[in-house]
Amino acid sequence: MKRLGVLTSGGDAPGMNAAVRAVTRAALGRGWEVCGVRNGYAGLLADTIEPLQARDVGGIVQRGGTMLGSARCPEFAEPAGRALAQRNLAARGIEALVVIGGNGSQSGAAALAREGFRVVGVPSTIDNDLYGTDVSIGADTAINVTLEAIDRLRTTASSHQRAFVVETMGRECGYIALMAGIAGGAEVIAIPEREIEAAEVAERLRAAYRRGKTHAMVVVAEGAKHGVQGLLKHYGEQRDAVGFELRLTRLGHVVRGGVPTAADRVLATRLGAAAVDSLAAGKSGILLGMLRGEIAATSLAQIAGRTRPADAALCELARMLAI
Ligand code: ADP
Repeated sequence: MKRLGVLTSGGDAPGMNAAVRAVTRAALGRGWEVCGVRNGYAGLLADTIEPLQARDVGGIVQRGGTMLGSARCPEFAEPAGRALAQRNLAARGIEALVVIGGNGSQSGAAALAREGFRVVGVPSTIDNDLYGTDVSIGADTAINVTLEAIDRLRTTASSHQRAFVVETMGRECGYIALMAGIAGGAEVIAIPEREIEAAEVAERLRAAYRRGKTHAMVVVAEGAKHGVQGLLKHYGEQRDAVGFELRLTRLGHVVRGGVPTAADRVLATRLGAAAVDSLAAGKSGILLGMLRGEIAATSLAQIAGRTRPADAALCELARMLAI
């Protein structure tokens, strides 16, 4: 191997930069050249590719987002788009690629591998919904950002006998809401994997009020169908409906930002370096993840197009403890 490409794709996640740094420096350490592709697969098509040296990835390990940029690129899902990408890669003498990204991005990597290009995936998504890894880069930071918001809202909620509904990211997977809800002692957690009717949420809040609670927290993933919309439509901000006054906070993209936690930086560093080791060992078409605490490779063909649900049974744990 002489020249390796690296890109970040799909939704940005804190820790992507630490992965880019690890891939770059591990590859340089082996005497390879490294090329950074701008804006994910879009950059492969537009041929926005630049050499990366050790100093180019200095000072980024602590930064959220991605210094390479990310984008969504529908053309890459078509064979013609990938053919153009492969032509651009060949013209630059790039022999292999490390793809840092989530579900869609790893489906793209699987398609490239199927077509004979050498590629290794590194899982990075705040939703933590990828098969082949117990934890993806960015999820820990997103949970902690959400948790900090929950803790802050609890302080004000308790002063005013309020129930706060906190909506966090997670369109198809409720992992962030579930973990932050448990860590934040939420009274109710609503996720796409375990929907709750608005009427039941209201009933639980009413019961908590009658038990003498001074405040309550409801944590909702944005993809939970009956989520905040249903609840607020039915109950507005009327005190009578649930006892507490209801207030809504929608965290939105705040969840994606922020300084990556130590756990995300270490994970990204280990997986980035392991991706380079795998390519050096002649492997391709795999995703490197953490399974039961160990770095493990899973075939990209096996994980592409699948979404790993959050463990909805944990909602019951939160419910049991919210007495
Ligand atoms: P994420 O990687 O965060 O899940 P997306 O789902 O938006 O983000 O996917 C990122 C990019 O990966 C897409 O814009 C597209 O270029 C590529 N991609 C997604 N699905 C496929 C697919 N089935 N085949 C090839 N490329 C895909």
